[in-house]
Amino acid sequence: MIVLKTSKELSLMKEACAISAGALKAAGAAVEPGISTAELDRIAHEYIVRHGATPTFLGYGGFPAAACISINDEVIHGIPSKKRIVQAGDIVSIDTGATFNGYVGDNAATFAAGEISPEAQRLCDVTRESLYEGIKAAVAGGRIGDIGSTIQRYCEERGFSVVREYTGHGVGKEMHEDPSVPNFGTPGRGVRLLPGMTIAIEPMINQGGKEVRQLSDGWTVKTRDGKLSAHFEHTIAITANGPVILTIA
Ligand code: MG
Repeated sequence: MIVLKTSKELSLMKEACAISAGALKAAGAAVEPGISTAELDRIAHEYIVRHGATPTFLGYGGFPAAACISINDEVIHGIPSKKRIVQAGDIVSIDTGATFNGYVGDNAATFAAGEISPEAQRLCDVTRESLYEGIKAAVAGGRIGDIGSTIQRYCEERGFSVVREYTGHGVGKEMHEDPSVPNFGTPGRGVRLLPGMTIAIEPMINQGGKEVRQLSDGWTVKTRDGKLSAHFEHTIAITANGPVILTIA
């Protein structure tokens, strides 16, 4: 069931999203060679709690942290650890969510640790750009396939591939609501986009093949070929005046 939000609900949700965005920004700013992923998680967690919100991810499906932190060939759902130390040249994807006012804000970004290769930089740039292209396509009266097809075309034209097994999603009182928001698809197909829909758009884009595998920890998803992956995400609202990004710090 797709839940449409009133403008009052959207303004409540925007506060949750701002906290989530602030937590992502704080953790992202701390990415540097030598820091552990547990410390990055602690920074996100502390920011969320200090702003009176709850870390949405903590305990979700049993996930043990406030942020998913996924390095290099890890696509999503990496578990923070004191033993996992960020190295110079790594790309570090951080995904975090905050619950506030009864609403969830969900966002992610990939950060560079020190100097990264031009290839890694290009993957991050194209993935981020594809998110903004997808957001532009999230127009009331359009279809969910307009978003995914835009992201897919943008990335594939630049030589990258789109993960199929994981998608964006509706978000509101729950972190995962209907509809599913794939990063691939056909223009003009799928669920109709309506004012008041709030969705998380989150391209997960691979440098090599689109295939992924889940590790035996039950969470971490990696590329099958060991090549890099990047991940950017915003929670947005579809309005009569166009898409509005809610996860702004
Ligand atoms: Mg999400």
